[in-house]
Amino acid sequence: MPRPLLATIHTAALANNLAVARRHAPKAKVWAVVKANAYGHGLARAFPGLRATDGFGLLDLEEAVKLRELGWAGPILLLEGFFRPTDIDVIDRYSLTTTVHSDEQLRMLEMARLSKPVNVQLKMNSGMNRLGYTPEKFRAAWERARACPGVGQIVLMTHFSDADGERGIEHQIDAFERGAEGIAGARSLSNSAATLWHPRAHFDWVRPGIILYGASPTGVTADVDGVGLQPAMTLASELIAVQTLAKGQTVGYGSAFTAPGPMRIGVVACGYADGYLRCAPEGTPIIVDGVRTRLIGRVSMDMLTVDLTPCPAANVGSRVELWGAQLPVDDVARACGTIGYELTCAVAQRVPVLAE
Ligand SMILES: *Cc1c(COP(=O)(O)O)cnc(C)c1O
Repeated sequence: MPRPLLATIHTAALANNLAVARRHAPKAKVWAVVKANAYGHGLARAFPGLRATDGFGLLDLEEAVKLRELGWAGPILLLEGFFRPTDIDVIDRYSLTTTVHSDEQLRMLEMARLSKPVNVQLKMNSGMNRLGYTPEKFRAAWERARACPGVGQIVLMTHFSDADGERGIEHQIDAFERGAEGIAGARSLSNSAATLWHPRAHFDWVRPGIILYGASPTGVTADVDGVGLQPAMTLASELIAVQTLAKGQTVGYGSAFTAPGPMRIGVVACGYADGYLRCAPEGTPIIVDGVRTRLIGRVSMDMLTVDLTPCPAANVGSRVELWGAQLPVDDVARACGTIGYELTCAVAQRVPVLAE
């Protein structure tokens, strides 16, 4: 018997969330972002739920090839572009669209021998200051790309730093419009947050990621209340032992928890080697037998411990939900000082995954 830990991927939720993204940006085409193994959901597991998209965005060539092998014949966008000249052979062979953010990449395209022109998303650095051409240098880069026989269609692209936050996108949209002024071609600007909250940034292609998986771009569940998103992953396990503690007894490594009085605690088959964060503090929410309770003690490699006070009927074999249908991943993430993205991406290879 395998351990009772299981990640379930909800295919219908993925399809629902893609429809939610489309409803928010009805005139735009959608790059469904499936980088990092579909944010930890598994590319092959996520694909059936997202196949109504217009294209897929990801980073790794291997994942791009895997999508082709899954039968996807539509557009695939490499969000960071390519790194070496040999990557261009794969781009050519599998008809991938690539981001171009630097002169080094343009040079490699100019030198490449291709069977057909490569479609490109030319990236502007409008204020994020990671990748791309500054607004001042953008036109020259576009002219160089256009003059390159290896380059086919060129979409103009940028990425927002604060679409989910107070600073917003205005300063970046202004920079983008300045740099792209007078340049024809489709535009792609919006991540999930801009897809939900900044219609001005929708243009021709949106690039939602996190909302497809049913989590909030801000990491706060309440921020997506009423949007209609559904969690795409449930991480669930079982109690494999129950202990009754007397007042003053401690739990786990470092004796990090001390029982304030007599109490029952449960031991769950899930630990940091499964991707559950070791830094999760006492009080992190967790569901046992459908009841919301709290993590206690230190998360260890293969186990964690929970307070059974609110669920006195719980026993060995009781179902435990780490996050998912009954517990938003962002609620868990928030307790850990992070966002849902990090938790789903961290689900380890050893966790069995089932799609339903
Ligand atoms: C990851 C990524 C996205 C999706 O971001 P979300 O916040 O998950 O919607 C969009 N565009 C680019 C370039 C990305 O790298």
